[in-house]
Amino acid sequence: MDMPLAVRPVPETTDQDPRWRRIVARDRAADGLFWYAVTTTGVYCRPSCPSRTARPENVRIYDSREAARAAGFRACRRCRPDAAPVAEARAIVAAACRHIEQAETVPTTEELAAACGWSVAHFHRTFRAETGLTPHDYAAAHRDGRLRAALAGGATVTAALYEAGFGSSSRFYAHADRALGMQPSAYRKGGAGESLHFAVGQCALGAILVASSGRGVCAILMGDAPDALLRDLQDRFPKATLIGGDAEYEQRVAQVVAFVEAPGTGLDLPLDIRGTAFQRRVWTALRAIPPGQVATYRDVARAIGAPQAVRAVAGACAANALAVAIPCHRVVRTDGSLSGYRWGIARKRALIAREGAVLP
Ligand SMILES: [Zn+2]
Repeated sequence: MDMPLAVRPVPETTDQDPRWRRIVARDRAADGLFWYAVTTTGVYCRPSCPSRTARPENVRIYDSREAARAAGFRACRRCRPDAAPVAEARAIVAAACRHIEQAETVPTTEELAAACGWSVAHFHRTFRAETGLTPHDYAAAHRDGRLRAALAGGATVTAALYEAGFGSSSRFYAHADRALGMQPSAYRKGGAGESLHFAVGQCALGAILVASSGRGVCAILMGDAPDALLRDLQDRFPKATLIGGDAEYEQRVAQVVAFVEAPGTGLDLPLDIRGTAFQRRVWTALRAIPPGQVATYRDVARAIGAPQAVRAVAGACAANALAVAIPCHRVVRTDGSLSGYRWGIARKRALIAREGAVLP
């Protein structure tokens, strides 16, 4: 043998090598384990190559394609030994999926291809053949799942989007409606045919009413008098059946009160956010403003990609039914003054001061 192998006793001749029988048998299970080259044709093959079996004295066996190429052989056109066999492709794609799932930020297709030593085109094609998705779509689907899990676990949107691997907030906004599963069809005007549990309590900012549908907290209202809050709830959900006085639900209100008094802790309850597509875009942007910071209506308009819609942004803030959970109190006028707050300017000022924000 002219190519001694470091890790295996060198057989006297090819036909004494146990791998030779697998070549003769065109054993598919041997693909990816070794390659053989034929000195008379100058090509190297995978063991399962359908070409006529060469004479063993003309065959050289290699542990890698690189070794065969280094010895001057070129890839056979019939068995395409440089293309990964199915099992190998599957393993590589599976490894790429795990890599996507575990990465802090979503890797690019170029990075994934480089990690497995394939061209971008070949990686893309193979990944799609194995998973039915492009690497990009797979990453997006996985990221959305993580986002939903993080939000369901009570993380703030800002924390959730970083946890889920959104590299930038603009990509998140572009994506949020789909990611959060807030389809327009879920918006049921007036709450027809549904029951809402509600309870009224007191917090440091005055009276607070919390209401929930089967999907989550749908209203957090604040004011001076509990009965005014109940009328507000009825106005917002005129067709819903309102159920009060539920001891188990009162417990939930305690959680919301604790959150309202310290918004930085996050609210460990799902939200049932209802509104038009535009309102929900605005509210998603508001939820990305961390405690201790404020933004102007203009900032929010820019953040949702509608820089001219400053007045409409203010309207969406006023329509918010989830005080503090959708932090419309963190939005101020460009000059830093506190314009209208549905639940009173004094409460808005108190919330901002409590969070330690510095006004522009
Ligand atoms: Zn071949």
